[in-house]
Amino acid sequence: MLRRAVAAALIVLIALGAFGSGLLRPLSHTLTTLRMYSEPRAPTGDVVVVDIDSKSIAAIGSWPWPRHLHADLIDKLVALGVSDIAFDVDFSAATNPVDDGALEAAIKRAAGKITLAAFVQKQTTSADAAMVFNRPLPRFADDAWVGSVNVRQDPDGMVRRFGYTLIYDGKVIPSIPAILAGGIGAAGREFAIDFSIDLARVDRISLIDVLQGRVDPQRLAGKKVIVGAQALELRDFFTVPVAGTISGAMLQVAATETLMQDRVLRPSNFWLVFAGLVIIASGAFVIGRVRWFAILFGLVIVGLLAEWVASILQRDFAFVLNTAPWHAALVTFAIVVLLSEIDFRELVQTMWRLRASNAEALLAKVVADNFAGVVVVDETGMIRTASRSASDLLSRPLIGTLARETLPPELMAAIDAVLAVPRADRRVWHPNVVQLSLGSGKPRAFEYVATVSEVESAPTEGARPQAQRVVSLTFTDVTEQRAAEERIAYLARFDSLTGLPNRHQLVERLDQVFSSARTDVRASAVVYFDLDNFKGVNDDVGHHTGDLLLRAVADRVAALLPAGALIARLGGDEFAAVISGPTAGDDAVALAKQAVSLIHGAFQLGPHRVMVTTSAGVALADARDKGPDDILKRADVALYRAKASGGDQIAVFERSMLQALVERQKLEADLWRAIEQKQFEVWYQPQIDLATTRITGVEALLRWNHPARGIVPPGEFIPVAEAIGLIDDLGRWALETATVEVATWPGDVRLSVNVSASQFARCDMAGLVASALENSGLPAHRLDLEITESLFMQPSKAVQAALSAIRALGVSLALDDFGTGYSSLNYIHRLPITKIKLDQSFVAGLPENAGSVAIVRAVAGLARDLDLQLNAEGVETTAQAAFLKSMGVDEVQGYLYGRPQPAHEVAAMVQPLPTPRRRRASVINSAA
Ligand code: C2E
Ligand code: MG
Ligand code: MG
Repeated sequence: MLRRAVAAALIVLIALGAFGSGLLRPLSHTLTTLRMYSEPRAPTGDVVVVDIDSKSIAAIGSWPWPRHLHADLIDKLVALGVSDIAFDVDFSAATNPVDDGALEAAIKRAAGKITLAAFVQKQTTSADAAMVFNRPLPRFADDAWVGSVNVRQDPDGMVRRFGYTLIYDGKVIPSIPAILAGGIGAAGREFAIDFSIDLARVDRISLIDVLQGRVDPQRLAGKKVIVGAQALELRDFFTVPVAGTISGAMLQVAATETLMQDRVLRPSNFWLVFAGLVIIASGAFVIGRVRWFAILFGLVIVGLLAEWVASILQRDFAFVLNTAPWHAALVTFAIVVLLSEIDFRELVQTMWRLRASNAEALLAKVVADNFAGVVVVDETGMIRTASRSASDLLSRPLIGTLARETLPPELMAAIDAVLAVPRADRRVWHPNVVQLSLGSGKPRAFEYVATVSEVESAPTEGARPQAQRVVSLTFTDVTEQRAAEERIAYLARFDSLTGLPNRHQLVERLDQVFSSARTDVRASAVVYFDLDNFKGVNDDVGHHTGDLLLRAVADRVAALLPAGALIARLGGDEFAAVISGPTAGDDAVALAKQAVSLIHGAFQLGPHRVMVTTSAGVALADARDKGPDDILKRADVALYRAKASGGDQIAVFERSMLQALVERQKLEADLWRAIEQKQFEVWYQPQIDLATTRITGVEALLRWNHPARGIVPPGEFIPVAEAIGLIDDLGRWALETATVEVATWPGDVRLSVNVSASQFARCDMAGLVASALENSGLPAHRLDLEITESLFMQPSKAVQAALSAIRALGVSLALDDFGTGYSSLNYIHRLPITKIKLDQSFVAGLPENAGSVAIVRAVAGLARDLDLQLNAEGVETTAQAAFLKSMGVDEVQGYLYGRPQPAHEVAAMVQPLPTPRRRRASVINSAA
């Protein structure tokens, strides 16, 4: 009961509040206007408007008009028998006396039929401007009525009322509508205009038609005429209900007609409104007994009924029933009914269901679009949802099927396994990888993880929400990723070219050796291998064949490894083996020796036959070693020694090597500076023609004038200069210097210049020789280049070409140190050489040493057969000289005839030959 009373009070109070606050005013106005609109009524026809319209203004040509025209209009209208003429025209100021006089006379003649407009207006447009009262000049007003035309706008800009009178300065001035309608109404009061009167049906005549007599007199006889501005340019307009924007004259017509038809609208009484509210509110007491929709229906009916009654009252009795507060009450009532009807629990549930189904849809979409394979299996074993990728990866449809029937057994096992995990342990999920054979292809690797979720089902009526377990299986195909990972892991530990372990593994093994306390550190050794002249192989036969060589070498060495040893490729042509065990030292030396001898020789690599040798350094682990670096460094030092000693051999580390290494490094540093600091000189050793014992030539021999060490012999620095690449610059310098110096000497001695094999590999020797000759002016036939057998170790097209080009210049080639190298006699005849220089080691044993004698004899025979000149070096005794002469040797050099000495000293010894030098053939002849 109380609830209902409160509801009723609420309804009344809310409606009254809205009414009192003016909130409902727009609704009231709208409803009133609608009723006017829906029930239009005809005007009386007694009021006619004479329009000062655009047509009239155009015909007369100006505005304001000369007043004699108004006078003329009055006369014409009077003549047509009008009953009243109201002018909504400003006659408050005088114009010319003739016109004003004419108007005054016309007004007099009209005898009381004329009403002239008066109005209050602001002097200027500004808000606080003083008000002025505009009224007709007394001379006009004396014989006419004066009627006010002032109206007031409502707050919404509409004009809905007209005054019966205007009270200004204590005087009461009736309004034009009041005057025309017969002077009714109370002073100061306004009346509401009934805009249901159809203004479109009011008769309107253009003023110019009246003046020019074009009007049917019937239209004006006995009518009340309002003369007013209608032309847009005169800007006398108002906004009103129903009709919209109308002129001031039309507004006066509406007001006049309202009065004449007794249609002044009467507002409804507050108590009537209140009574209606109370009746509506009393309906609140039926809530609960009647169903809510019936009540709502009833409310709508009441509202429509009220409107129907209101429209009848307004139409027939000009009574404006304000139904707006009632509608407000009805709406409030409806809201109260709805609020009391809604079961909030139900509402919350509906929203929950809505949200849940939204979330479910979202989740389904997320799952379906997932990049990974996702399969969600419910407690019944049914696949509730799955991503498209899942179906694609497993190449079968999944949703709605039984997991046990569709999923591969391995993945099903994962689901079973995760369900078996006790709830408390279900925290961290680790992905697993499984190999699955799907279809025909190779097995593929899948990474998967299965997770369990406890989910609550949506609450249903009468049932509590139930927890159920759902397994989500996520998987991706990681085959490629795994393969890449394995490849990376492999590359991290193995050399991709040879398949041997890499430096990383070697160091790891050594780390184990050094960190393991159980292993005797000393029972380990490292063998370091490095191919001799691998760079030359690469340059000559290309990198591909170079790679083949490295693989072949790796295979050969790996095959020699004792059990438990490890060999790694460290990069380039460097390999290292780690050997452990009680006999590690011996094993290492044995391995090194075997490897060196096994690698020595020719490798057939595709179309190429490649000659290689290798060097090896052995180091034993030492209790003082701090880590792998120490032993590796020692092995490297030993290797270095093996290389420095000519390669193709092994060296076992000794402490003294470290000192040698330091010295060597210092030597290298000194050498680099030596050229810049001009520390080199070329000395010359005479070459003697045995037949004449005259100096026929000189050999240029480098000397290094070291600032601290004095003269350093070439045997010490040439190999180093070759190893560090300095020989290119040094050799060029020697060639240029020697040619320039010898060219200045008297006579025509020949010049022999030594050229290292490595110079051929890196320089354009033919070009260098040509420019040295050109620069010095030394004739080409006086120059010999001394080359060694090592140049022919790798038969290379480039070297062959260079040698031919040099020969083509006219320069001769001599094979130096013959007998010390490979002495592979079978290639000599293929070389473009003209001279053989027998190495001094064979001369030293002459004439007693039978071996030396045999070799000298053999070489002399070879030279003769091949038509080559023969030079013997290191001749120190006359016995040697005599023996060599008897063997048919053409030319000798040695301390017996002169040591290598500075240029100026040799230059002094050289005498111009009286006769041209005899050719070798004649020497042979004389020896023969
Ligand atoms: P090589 O071309 O065989 O030079 C002959 C070497 O024998 C020279 O040694 C010379 O001083 C030495 N010699 C000459 N007569 C006798 C003798 O009666 N008894 C003894 N015991 N030795 C004798 P050197 O000047 O020490 O040169 C050593 C090597 O250095 C040369 O051997 C040559 O291979 C190389 N060399 C010298 N100058 C140059 C150069 O400008 N360029 C190149 N690439 N190598 C050079
Ligand atoms: Mg030489
Ligand atoms: Mg020599």
